[in-house]
Amino acid sequence: MSAIVSINNLHKSFGTNKVLNGVSLDVQKGQMVAIIGRSGSGKSTLLRCLNGLERIDSGDINVCGHDIHHPDKLNLRELRKQVGIVFQSYNLFPHVTVERNITLALTTIKKMATAEAKKIAHNVLTLVGLENKKDAYPEQLSGGQAQRVAIARSLAMAPELMLFDEVTSALDPELTGEVLKVMEDLSKQGMTMVLVTHEMAFARKLADILVFMHQGKVWEIGPPDELFTNPKTAELAKFVSSDL
Ligand code: ADP
Ligand code: MG
Repeated sequence: MSAIVSINNLHKSFGTNKVLNGVSLDVQKGQMVAIIGRSGSGKSTLLRCLNGLERIDSGDINVCGHDIHHPDKLNLRELRKQVGIVFQSYNLFPHVTVERNITLALTTIKKMATAEAKKIAHNVLTLVGLENKKDAYPEQLSGGQAQRVAIARSLAMAPELMLFDEVTSALDPELTGEVLKVMEDLSKQGMTMVLVTHEMAFARKLADILVFMHQGKVWEIGPPDELFTNPKTAELAKFVSSDL
């Protein structure tokens, strides 16, 4: 196994607010790592650091061979081609079709020919089960469908690592399952992924490693079953017993 993500003693503050307080974490190729924890514990900030969206204060982060600690040397464009990120709000471009939402970055950033980009759009839409929606506009989609298009758009760039930040939190419960299914399929196909989630059953069943963050630290880490059945700290015990 080889590490796609290697984080060592990461610190990050916003002003006097210490948000990440010495985080260390490795993610191996093909793993699904799920991060849980209370609101404000630093989960989103950690994901954003992995994609070069935040400047870090100290520590080492290597993601897909990029040294994130040295922003001057960092090739952000390359990093973001290799690392896809999907947020709670899917931010599709409202004025173009589903297909164009996906081909846009391919034809502009990757300078791909339109025919080739369309082929990729077809492939990734098939992966998320929406090949019949290519001519639809975002407003014609359900929240679950829109989120699946957002995932497809990210996959079109052929990332080595996918980051998901509470991608189902804004969805009605009946639409959550279809998005989780896409993530499950992706994982089974070998995609490396780090996700922040409130979907405890999903994390427990599918994650290789569960991370419980508390006060900007990796408070507990291990196989999901172990953390759920045998939490070592009062904080995790309280978190897993509270119905969130
Ligand atoms: P989580 O995703 O676990 O809820 P976040 O990483 O979003 O936690 O936030 C952790 C802390 O960092 C919170 O106190 C939040 O207010 C603060 N924070 C996050 N982003 C910013 C920002 N851009 N500027 C200032 N404070 C921020
Ligand atoms: Mg968050």
